[in-house]
Amino acid sequence: MSTISNEKYEAVIGLEVHAQLLTKSKAFAAVSSEYGGAPNRQVTPLCLGHPGTLPVLNENLVRYTIRMGLATGCKISEKSIFARKNYFYPDLPKGYQISQYDTPICYDGNIQIEVDDYVKDIGITRIHMEEDAGKSIHDQDPYHTLVDLNRAGTPLIEIVSEPDIRTPREAYEYLKKIRQIVQYLEVCDGNMEEGSLRCDANVSIRPRGQKEFGTRTELKNMNSFRNVERAITFEIERQIELVENGGEVVQQTLLWDPNKLETRQMRSKEEAHDYRYFPEPDLPPIIVTNSLLDDIRTELPELPDKRLQRFVSELGLSREDAEILTDNRYLADYFETALHLLNEPKALSNVILTEVLRVLNERSITISEFTITPEQLSGLIRLKLEDKINSSAMQTIFNELIESDEDPNDLASRLNLLQVSDSGFLEPIIREVMESNPDEVKRYREGKTALMGFFIGQVMKQSKGKANPKLVREMVSLKLDRTE
Ligand code: ADP
Ligand code: MG
Repeated sequence: MSTISNEKYEAVIGLEVHAQLLTKSKAFAAVSSEYGGAPNRQVTPLCLGHPGTLPVLNENLVRYTIRMGLATGCKISEKSIFARKNYFYPDLPKGYQISQYDTPICYDGNIQIEVDDYVKDIGITRIHMEEDAGKSIHDQDPYHTLVDLNRAGTPLIEIVSEPDIRTPREAYEYLKKIRQIVQYLEVCDGNMEEGSLRCDANVSIRPRGQKEFGTRTELKNMNSFRNVERAITFEIERQIELVENGGEVVQQTLLWDPNKLETRQMRSKEEAHDYRYFPEPDLPPIIVTNSLLDDIRTELPELPDKRLQRFVSELGLSREDAEILTDNRYLADYFETALHLLNEPKALSNVILTEVLRVLNERSITISEFTITPEQLSGLIRLKLEDKINSSAMQTIFNELIESDEDPNDLASRLNLLQVSDSGFLEPIIREVMESNPDEVKRYREGKTALMGFFIGQVMKQSKGKANPKLVREMVSLKLDRTE
């Protein structure tokens, strides 16, 4: 955005986020909803829209949605109903999608985001349950569009924000926060690239100081966090330019083109009445009892913001380190499992944030696929803290442990890497090093104390890296300071 326009206009943004739930089976049919199966194998007559089939509600769809509602401070409706959203599309054989319309199960919540130097609450209008449609495949057959119905009926939640977002950056942080929360709650894997987390952005502009909102457009097809930020930036600029040139924003749906980095028109925006929403007659109302709510509350894990606070205030980690550790729930879990075995938060976090993250990066794997167990890692760090190994041995053992399930102590002793802190063993080595380097000894005694490093190096070499450098330093300095 150019600075002049920036001073003159303000953007107003609201996001609609769809998250595919990690339930084992579909929303209303007893068949797997797992991603990636052979086409059209995970379908039942219900998914195919056969007449006479009846939906049966998956209890976990309700439970997972309520988890998300509680985690975002939403009110939970005691009674809500499903609604049919009617439209025609080849990947929607029923001719309607089961969704919720005027009684969402969760409403009125908020999510706190942190943007560079400020924090801000973004209101959550509603979170409702719905089912996904199938998938139309346009790029596999030169003449036909293929349809895969495995996804038809996969459970989704839609999280609708208030129009509280003001910049593309805020939209980006909001979406990141949603991903973090769904991952902590284990209700969705949060993968935008694979489409298990999808985001539509509603964007309008208004002159600064004006209360009324401008006409909005809706952006679709942004399949990464960066693209959400980019597409919104592009759209704000497009609208400002349009208005500055005397034009008017038309309410419409736009598709983001990630290659051309621009939006293009998809269709004029439909209105709610186009969908002929009406109550779903085949499903009873959803009644949420207090005992169900209590039950779900006990399932909730500690949420990321709280965990971060605790890592800083109770464990004494820096905010930056705590942020990286808690960004991903499983990394934080890994850290805490190791911490139970070795109560050294800083030493553990240092190794995780440098060595462990380096390996995850290099191998493009997640912490769940990382092969050094928390037990092994804490054992390794204990060896170092107790001065039983030196830094280079620690590195060697760390690398070995990636491929081995051996105990770090056994590994260190098998590789002959345990430090020797025995002066009886070091004594002859130090004597020999001094005898074979009389010049250096002389110069040291004349004041060139920087040679200490040289002597320690020699002793380390002679001991094949096993000497405890602290002890070597003490012993060498005792001997050199003595004139013999
Ligand atoms: P729809 O029925 O088209 O989905 P909603 O009223 O449910 O519309 O709003 C969808 C999203 O659009 C919400 O996230 C809301 O915050 C956002 N929104 C509504 N009005 C505006 C506006 N003028 N500018 C930007 N976003 C808006
Ligand atoms: Mg909508």
